[in-house]
Amino acid sequence: MNEIYDIIIIGGGASGLFCASQLNKEFKIAILEKDIRIGKKILATGNGRCNLTNKILSSLQYNQNIDVFLKTFNNFDTLKYFNDMGLMTYCDEEGRVYPISNTANSVLDIIRLNIGQNVDIFTEIEILNISKNKIFNINLKNGKTLFTKQIIYACGGNSTDLIKNLHNDINSFNKSLVSLQTNNNKHLNNIRVHNVKATLKIGDNTFYELGEILFKDNAISGIMIFNLSSYMARIKNYCHKIYLDLLPDIAFNNLIEILERRKNNKNFVGENFLIGIFHSALSKNIMEKVNFDTKNTKKIAFLIKNYEIITKSPLNNNQVFNGGIKLESLSTNLESKETSNLFFIGECVDVDGLCGGYNLQWAWTSAFVVAKFLNENLSCNLVGEK
Ligand SMILES: Cc1cc2nc3c(=O)[nH]c(=O)nc-3n(C[C@H](O)[C@H](O)[C@H](O)COP(=O)(O)OP(=O)(O)OC[C@H]3O[C@@H](n4cnc5c(N)ncnc54)[C@H](O)[C@@H]3O)c2cc1C
Repeated sequence: MNEIYDIIIIGGGASGLFCASQLNKEFKIAILEKDIRIGKKILATGNGRCNLTNKILSSLQYNQNIDVFLKTFNNFDTLKYFNDMGLMTYCDEEGRVYPISNTANSVLDIIRLNIGQNVDIFTEIEILNISKNKIFNINLKNGKTLFTKQIIYACGGNSTDLIKNLHNDINSFNKSLVSLQTNNNKHLNNIRVHNVKATLKIGDNTFYELGEILFKDNAISGIMIFNLSSYMARIKNYCHKIYLDLLPDIAFNNLIEILERRKNNKNFVGENFLIGIFHSALSKNIMEKVNFDTKNTKKIAFLIKNYEIITKSPLNNNQVFNGGIKLESLSTNLESKETSNLFFIGECVDVDGLCGGYNLQWAWTSAFVVAKFLNENLSCNLVGEK
C-alpha cells in the first residue's frame, strides 16, 4: 500500500466512486472502503434497477436549496455523462431514469470503467483516526498510516464520527424515505391501495402525495409514504396524522350517490358494502369504523375521502438520512470552512431528496463539484512533497 497520495477518498459508494472517475487521471488517488467491496449500495438502489436521476429536477425536491450546485452539474449532465460513457437509459412516466438493462450493475460497471489506473482501491479498511498537521494523517487498524494533502469524505449517511475532530458543524441524522409505524391497520396486512391521495399537515405547511400505499400490520409503506416521511424527518418528529383520499377521482357528492345506490342492493351488506370498490379487507376495515351501518352513506363517504392514519416512529428500512454536515459550514466547492483541503460529498452532507433518483443525483452533483474544483486548482503530483 502506497503511503502518500494527492487525494484520498474515504468511502467507496456512489459519490466517492463517481468523484474518483471525474478526477484528473494524473492525481495519485486512493479510495478507502470499509466494506468487502465498493459500490455495494448502488446495487441495491431502485429495487436493484438503480433510479439514477430524474427528468424533473430542482431544489424543490430537496430539504434545502442546492441551486448553486445544480448549476454546475444537473440531471442533464448526469444523463449526458452516463450516456456518453455507454450506459443506455430509459425514463418512466414519472421522469425516473433507469439503465435500459434494468440492473444497477450496469451503472456501477460504467463508473468503474472510468476510474483510472491512478486510483488505488482498498477495501475492508478500518480507519482508527484522522488528524492534520501540514497534511492529513490517516491511521489504519492494520498499523499503517496514509498521508494526503486532500481528503474527500464520502462515507454516506450517519457516518460522520470519524471526522468530528476536523469538522464539527453537523446536524443530527434522522431516518428519511422510510416506512412508518402505525397502530390502526386492522385486517390490512400486505394490502396495497393504488391511486390514493395523501395529505399531511405540519404546522402551516400542507404536503400532498399521490400514489400507492402498502399497509402492514402496524406500519405503512410505499413511495408516497417514504416521501411524507422525508418531511417528518426534517422536523425530527414522526408522530402525525395522515389523511388518505382513497378515491381521489370521485367527488364527495358523487360518492354518496354511488353508495346510496348500493344501499338497497342485497349483495352489498355489512362488511361487504364496499366490495367491488376496494379489496374486501379494506371494505371490512372501513365498515367496522361505522359499526357496519350501511345506511350512513355520508359518514362512509367521509371516511373514504378522509381515511385517518396516525403515524408513530420510523422503521429501520430508511433509504437515506436527513441531517449531516451543515451546508453553510462548507464553501460552494463543498470544502470545510473549519479545516482546509477537507471536502464532503454525498449523503454525509445535510442534503436529502425525495424518492425518484434525487439522492443519487446529489451524490453525482456533489462529487462532480469537488472533482471540478480540484481538477482546476490542485497541481498534480503532490506525492513526494511531504
Ligand atoms: C434500498 C435503497 C434503495 C435506494 N434507491 C435509490 C434510488 O433508486 N435512487 C436514488 O437516487 N437513491 C436511492 N437510494 C439512496 C442512495 O443509495 C444514496 O443516496 C447514495 O448511495 C448515497 O451515496 P454516498 O456515496 O453518499 O453513500 P453510500 O453510497 O452509502 O457510500 C458510502 C460508502 O462509504 C463506506 N464507508 C462508511 N463509513 C466508512 C468508513 N469509516 N471508512 C471507509 N468507508 C466507509 C460505506 O461502506 C459505503 O460504501 C437508495 C438507498 C437504499 C438504502
